[in-house]
Formats: sequence, structure tokens, C-alpha cells
Amino acid sequence: MPADAMEKVVNLCKRRGFVFPGSEIYGGLGASLDYGPLGVELKRNVKDAWWRAVVTGRDDVVGLDCAVIMHPRVWEASGHIAGFTDPLVDCKKCKQRFRADQIQTTVCPECGGELTEARQFNLMFKTFVGPMEDTAHVAYLRPETAQGMFVNFKNVVETARLKLPFGIAQTGRSFRNEITPGNFLFRTREFEQMELEFFVRPGDDDRWFDHWREERMRWYVELGIRAENLRERPHGADELAHYAKGCVDIEYRFPFGWSELEGIANRTDFDLKRHAEFSGRDLSYFDEEKRERFLPFVIEPAAGVDRSLLAFLVDAFDEEVVEGEARIVLRLHPRLAPYKAAVYPLLRKEGQPERARSIYDALRRHFAADYDQAGSIGRRYRRQDEVGTPFGITVDHETMRDGTVTLRERDSMRQVRLPEDRLIDELRTRIGNA
Ligand code: ATP
Repeated sequence: MPADAMEKVVNLCKRRGFVFPGSEIYGGLGASLDYGPLGVELKRNVKDAWWRAVVTGRDDVVGLDCAVIMHPRVWEASGHIAGFTDPLVDCKKCKQRFRADQIQTTVCPECGGELTEARQFNLMFKTFVGPMEDTAHVAYLRPETAQGMFVNFKNVVETARLKLPFGIAQTGRSFRNEITPGNFLFRTREFEQMELEFFVRPGDDDRWFDHWREERMRWYVELGIRAENLRERPHGADELAHYAKGCVDIEYRFPFGWSELEGIANRTDFDLKRHAEFSGRDLSYFDEEKRERFLPFVIEPAAGVDRSLLAFLVDAFDEEVVEGEARIVLRLHPRLAPYKAAVYPLLRKEGQPERARSIYDALRRHFAADYDQAGSIGRRYRRQDEVGTPFGITVDHETMRDGTVTLRERDSMRQVRLPEDRLIDELRTRIGNA
């Protein structure tokens, strides 16, 4: 991957409306980013692909959508109030702040000034619920979505009539007051997570841990990330949370180095046990067949929407020279691509635009699509290649004569002719099999 790959992806994102700097007209706000018209489609597609793979495509996982602001006791029970901290150091000279575990020097990496002793900085955003701004009304924006699943464990067991092993999943925003956000979408202060809590009988946990490691790795590869750019990194004993039995990170080879996309952890019965203790409610599970009551163990695959979206973009980005001209192409998996197809009239006359528009209208009922009649056909193909549109449909004089159109493939640039009325089936097959 070229050293300037990140810069090129960031530029493309801005230029084509995937991601904009947040609050840009006010000079921006540190590490806050907004998804533009194409980015929002891509993001939805990433979340949909996850939801299909983890929830609706299985018979043992159900979904939830919980509140961002939860009872403050949740964060006491989870350990976030006491321990969700990063070590912070200040430069006495230039006043910049750094994460002590991320700098290699004993002096300020910016100005060489003296650093303070490290102190623990809690990453949770604080707010007040209701009109009183006092300590009794302090609440937190959730720093992870996982706690919603633990807190609703009993509700889900009772209403969904599930038997172990089963999972509860959720996607949604989380907030962390990161000391040093950066690398574009990789680390921001608000982001989206896709988390699954998969509850199992103690003793079955190792098997399910391996199951989810494999499933989750396969998901990235099936959606087009090159296997050589992915790896598993098991946590060492020193990194492992005290309650966790095992943890593996799925890492991607970003232009700035191997970094975490997702963590898969065996959290044992820690969370249910703590919430039972703090809430005074019985959160045990009763196995009807074995007539046994126990606290299930939980396997947690916790992924980031924005981080995986960034990995999909970086991995798909390609530049090549075609017939002496540079071509930028996003080789996104068709299921992730913002537009599945673009429709073009070859000429802006002879009824071709009207015909192309009617095809575009018909397609849009099935897929996200685009219509473009501005500029040469070559230019129009390039514009769509750059945003990852996998198929192009061109209406020309032959269409007007015999009702056939050309279907162009983004990656190979090959074109085939087919009758207009076979288009939707053909696209559906190609997207479905891709
Ligand atoms: P890191 O070590 O990079 O801070 P983490 O191990 O604290 O991440 P988890 O708490 O395991 O992260 O969160 C699960 C997932 O949520 C991460 O793998 C990542 O994809 C995503 N995530 C966490 N923090 C951020 C952030 N600040 N910005 C974007 N995504 C994030």
C-alpha cells in the first residue's frame, strides 16, 4: 500500500461526498466527521451486512436498540466509572496533552518540554439529566453499546423465549472523550459500534469463542477485504482484562500500521454477575431440560462501523492507467457500494435521455442507482468507477431500435449487451453472487 494511500482516500471522501470535516464552516471540531450522501449509503450497507450476518441470517441471535443515556449505576457495575481511563500526561511547556502509553519519549514529543506525572483520565462524556446541574443528576453518554444487552438480558430471555446458546446484538452510537483521536475515521469521539453478546453455557465458551473468531474474520473477507491485510492478534496476559478468559483482536493493515477493527472476547459471567449484584435482580438462566440454574458465559465480538468502513475504503482504493489515462477505481463489494448501478444515455438526443431515465426509474425501485448525462461517456464511467458503482448501463441508438442496452462492469470494464427487460434479474444475480 503506498504511503500516501490514506491521504488519497481522505481526499476522495471529501471530493465525492463520502465524509466531510464536521462543522467545517466554523473551522471544524477536533476529530468530528460527517458522512455525506455517498458515505451514508456505504455506512448503511456496512451495518446491513453485519446485521444480516449476525442477526437475521441466524436463528440464534436477536436485536435490540437501547438508549444512549443509561442509569449511572450501569457504569458503576460495568467498571467504567472506576476504570475506563487512559493515562494522561501534560507538557508543562506547550500545554499539549498525550496518552502516556502512546508516546515513546519521556519528554514532550512536540517541544521537548518536561511532562507531568501520568494521571488517569476517564473517557466517558458526562452530562446532566433534567434541569438540575448537580451531582445527583449526572449521567453519561454510553462509551459502548454492550451494556444495553446485559441490562436487558432478563427482558429478552422472557419475551423472546430463547434457549442457550443465543445472542443479543445492537448497533449504535458510542461516545469516548479520546485524548488523542485521529487517523480520520479510525479514532473519533463519537462513533458507531456493532456488538454482539453471545450467551453460552459455561464449558461451551471456548468452542463458541473459536466459532465467532472464524465467523467474524470470514465476514471481512467475504465483503472484499484481502486476506493478507487481515490478521488475528491474541491479547497477551498483561493486556487481558482481569475478568476475560481470552481476547483476540482482528486487525487490518492500515497505511498507518496494523490496527484493531474488532475485538472478540470471552467475558465469562463477569457482566451478568456484576449487574445482578448492583441491581439486586436475579439474572441467572434456568435450563429447563437439565433443571439447572446458572449464570451464562458471554462471547463478545465488538466491531466499529467507522473503522471497518475505513478499512473497506482503503482496501478497495486502486489507481491504474487505462489506455494512457489514470483511472481511480473503488473496488467495493457490490453489496457495500453506495450505488449498485448508474444509467447513461450515450447521446443527449434521439429520445435516449428519456429512455435512460425510465430505466433509471425502474431500477431505483430495486437498487440504489444514479443517472448521469453530463460530459463524455468515458468521463461518466470514470466518475462512477471512483465511487465504486459496480455496473453501468448505457442506452444508445441500438436500444432505440431493438431494446437492448450495454452493461459495463466496473472492475474488468467489460461490456455485454442484453435486453432491457432482463436488466433487473441480471443485476440481482450479479450483486447476489458477488
Ligand atoms: P482502541 O484500543 O483502539 O481504543 P478498544 O479496544 O478500546 O479500541 P473496544 O472497546 O474493544 O475498543 O471497542 C470495540 C470497537 O469499537 C473497536 O474495535 C473499534 O472498532 C470501535 N472503536 C472503539 N473506540 C473507537 C473510536 N474512538 N473511534 C472509532 N471506533 C472506535
